[in-house]
Amino acid sequence: MKHIVVLGGGFGGVEAVYRLRKSGHKVTLISNREYVFIYPISIWIPVNKLDFKDATLSLTDLQKVHGFDLIIDNITSINSAEDKVILENQTIEYDYLIVAMGSGKVKQAGLEHTFSICGNPLQSLSMKDRFDELLAQGHGKISFGFGGNPKDKSAVRGGPAFELLFNFVHTLKQKKLYDKFEISFFAPMKEPGKKLGSEGFDLLKGHFKKLNVDTHIGTKIKEFREDRIVFEDNTELESDLIMFIPAGAGHPVLKASDLQLSEAGFILIDGHGRVYGDKNNVYAVGDIARLEGPDWVAKQGHIAEVMAQYAVNNILNCINGNPKRYSYLNHLSIVCVMDTGNAAVFTNRTWSKESFIPLPFVGHWMKKGWGWYWKKSKMKKIPRLAGM
Ligand SMILES: Cc1cc2nc3c(=O)[nH]c(=O)nc-3n(C[C@H](O)[C@H](O)[C@H](O)COP(=O)(O)OP(=O)(O)OC[C@H]3O[C@@H](n4cnc5c(N)ncnc54)[C@H](O)[C@@H]3O)c2cc1C
Repeated sequence: MKHIVVLGGGFGGVEAVYRLRKSGHKVTLISNREYVFIYPISIWIPVNKLDFKDATLSLTDLQKVHGFDLIIDNITSINSAEDKVILENQTIEYDYLIVAMGSGKVKQAGLEHTFSICGNPLQSLSMKDRFDELLAQGHGKISFGFGGNPKDKSAVRGGPAFELLFNFVHTLKQKKLYDKFEISFFAPMKEPGKKLGSEGFDLLKGHFKKLNVDTHIGTKIKEFREDRIVFEDNTELESDLIMFIPAGAGHPVLKASDLQLSEAGFILIDGHGRVYGDKNNVYAVGDIARLEGPDWVAKQGHIAEVMAQYAVNNILNCINGNPKRYSYLNHLSIVCVMDTGNAAVFTNRTWSKESFIPLPFVGHWMKKGWGWYWKKSKMKKIPRLAGM
């Protein structure tokens, strides 16, 4: 029996322990949070349409169903030369390792003046509190934006910024306060949303115009201040609430570890998910890894899950002496149901096609249904559908 250790209890890590549940090996999941945070549905927390706990799934509950060992602790470094992971409170040895700790964030001056939906889950609640204050005040200025990482274009996360903007607008309209608020969108790249497909950017621009959203695009951000965003051309955008998603960067633990990294700080892996280097027993999946692929490739939850599934298959084949290996590369795609509060747009981009399909009303409920399905299927209360 081998000891397979999985680092990080997010999308990639949970998929890995799920796939390892019948392997007959000792499996240990290590994470610093007791729950999985289901980021895709967390967009409804700040607008008070979802309770925080409904965007979580307890790892202890998952452990009871799937029978892995669970350690809640902070990972401080990985020593792959000695097959060890160092935690704040102990050191763990492994035969095989799957690293799935998500990404770090690009640093930017004044980030403490912003709220993000992509970092510490508790920020979704602070953002809700600030939005509640503005609603009580009856007027305000709210800005939504995201940043880029020139060293790794796959580390940009724009979709949730658009989703939050549309959800805030929808809520303000429901409360008949929309005409009392100024809504702005900002991003340093010239064509934010372009990854969704060539139509994507034009459709978003059209939508912003219809909603009277002020746009500040194509100018780099110099700094955030308590009540404004300052751009590099010294123009300023006043804001009572700034929602900003920094681009992804290398996870801080990797600086203290001995794995091979890309220039942007992500773990270098081959198509099978195996980390480059002398050792054959370390795999990395999800946002922490550098993705190969076309310009439009983006780090997403479903990619983390595919990578985890294949990393598990490849590890088990390696243990069993089976030479077959699986590659995530053919499965690269963007799949996004972009919620607008009462509808959604389904976008799908693959190596060969781009689809952009408006889904009035039903799209919103599809996304809600997906959150329910994700939790229930991981807990084995309902069967998993192929490809999901
Ligand atoms: C608001 C939002 C909406 C999104 N919507 C979609 C969508 O619609 N579709 C889609 O496919 N993707 C979506 N994504 C992207 C998706 O959530 C990520 O790609 C996915 O979560 C990556 O999975 P991961 O396992 O690599 O990392 P994560 O899910 O971030 O998990 C990392 C885990 O590692 C743990 N960890 C980190 N550091 C340490 C440490 N030092 N010690 C111990 N544990 C540690 C964390 O606690 C966490 O449990 C969205 C993301 C956000 C933020």
